[in-house]
Amino acid sequence: MPQAAGEVTMTGKQILIVEDEKPIRDMIAFGLRRAGFSVREAEDCGEARSCIADSRPDLLLVDWMLPDQSGLELTRFLKRNKETQDLPVIMLTARADEHDKVAGLEGGADDYVTKPFSPRELLARVQAVLRRASPNAADGTMEAGALKLDAVSHRVTSGEQTVPLGPTEYRLLQFFMEHPERVYGRGQLLDRVWGGNVYVEERTVDVHIRRLRKALEPFGCDSLIQTVRGSGYRFSTRPE
Ligand code: CA
Repeated sequence: MPQAAGEVTMTGKQILIVEDEKPIRDMIAFGLRRAGFSVREAEDCGEARSCIADSRPDLLLVDWMLPDQSGLELTRFLKRNKETQDLPVIMLTARADEHDKVAGLEGGADDYVTKPFSPRELLARVQAVLRRASPNAADGTMEAGALKLDAVSHRVTSGEQTVPLGPTEYRLLQFFMEHPERVYGRGQLLDRVWGGNVYVEERTVDVHIRRLRKALEPFGCDSLIQTVRGSGYRFSTRPE
């Protein structure tokens, strides 16, 4: 699908809708899929938690009124948990009360949409929150030092040259470029890059980090992947 200028590249971004009312869920899912998102659906908080454990979404849409727990409780739970605290959450609610809006935002929601909303309005909010969550990826390309990653073509270049990367190294680099200057432990990288439900040993991370560095070395970019002793790895354009 051709992309309008200034539009955020959403292809492949995964959104989890947590809403017990099927007609609303279907309506939201339809609009988001049409916009190029990959969409998963959960009917309640319990199902949402197992969905997140299976594979981490890029953003959650959480209805306030859910059968097992409130959406606010789910949001608080996610924001308290180290592994999920930076997962963007937009709360959906029928309540227009300012008091509830404040409670939602204090509970950790990144934004708040009041029902009824138009699919267009929701899409704009989703794009804005995703843009804030990874400002580097706003137009689908990210740059760091001499490296340029194009998420649309899945191509990494340095100057005119293509940096040859395997699929895992590509995903690892993309994750790092989206989250620069932060240290991630091996477990966190497994969770975020490989997906939570995959059984992979932690040292597999080291293997792929080595491959990634080796691929970047001819371009003088291997020092972007830094080892932080006792903690994990960091992507940084600053010297170690
Ligand atoms: Ca509901």
